[in-house]
Amino acid sequence: MESNRRNFLKIGGVCALGLGSLPIVKALAQEKGPAFSSDPRRLVAKRWAMVVDMKKCWEMGKPGCKDCVLACHTVHNVPDIKDEQEEIKWIWPEQFNHAFTGQENEFIPAEMKEKPFLMLCNHCANPPCVRVCPTKATFKSPDGITMMDFHRCIGCRYCMAGCPYGARSFNWQDPRPHIQTELNMSFPTRERGVVEKCNFCTERLEVGLLPACVEACKVGGLIFGDVEDPNSNVRKVLAERFTMRRKPELGTQPNVYYIV
Ligand code: SF4
Ligand code: SF4
Repeated sequence: MESNRRNFLKIGGVCALGLGSLPIVKALAQEKGPAFSSDPRRLVAKRWAMVVDMKKCWEMGKPGCKDCVLACHTVHNVPDIKDEQEEIKWIWPEQFNHAFTGQENEFIPAEMKEKPFLMLCNHCANPPCVRVCPTKATFKSPDGITMMDFHRCIGCRYCMAGCPYGARSFNWQDPRPHIQTELNMSFPTRERGVVEKCNFCTERLEVGLLPACVEACKVGGLIFGDVEDPNSNVRKVLAERFTMRRKPELGTQPNVYYIV
């Protein structure tokens, strides 16, 4: 697979999907996706979803807490690149007007406009990023996670253009020298020219662990569960509390909900 990807880059260039390279793209797209493990410890769901309780985060969390970000970026070897144009983000804070574009109005409490909201991939049930990827490097898993196969990614960035949430980052440079945390040898590092994003910690679910951000949040501000199961923790919270999703009008059907 790696040689296919390199051949493609040589022939087609990183951004230009020329006609001459179409057979290679088709060959990549037709290859079977990675198999899922049948580890008995795997946490199972019909459709994983997350509720982000921003009230708990703001009211009970310590000021400037970034435990969830640190946990996520540590287990996934996410590089720490300061340049905003090149930074890699799996989970990050954003202000209201960026987080909920189009849902703001002049009467929203001023303090809410200034508070940070946690952003991550929405693992949309109807994801435009998956539709536009020419090599199936991004795809839906049976449990609703929008996955990335880094080896299939040819760096065309169509998925980044397709995602209306800015949930994807592109490695403009080799990320490995910028990993500041202890290297997690059990999770792959990426290379220049590859897109990456939150994966709902599928590799942890596989061995019976909750997502790293959920585990790291000391105030219980991140709730993770099966949104198709009426008895799940996520469904109970959704039934009891008013929640918002980002840009629901686009029809992407995000699986990340916010209590604000
Ligand atoms: S948030 Fe963006 S990257 Fe994530 S599934 Fe939706 S469209 Fe794809
Ligand atoms: S679910 Fe996992 S990959 Fe996604 S933001 Fe949380 S820790 Fe990161």
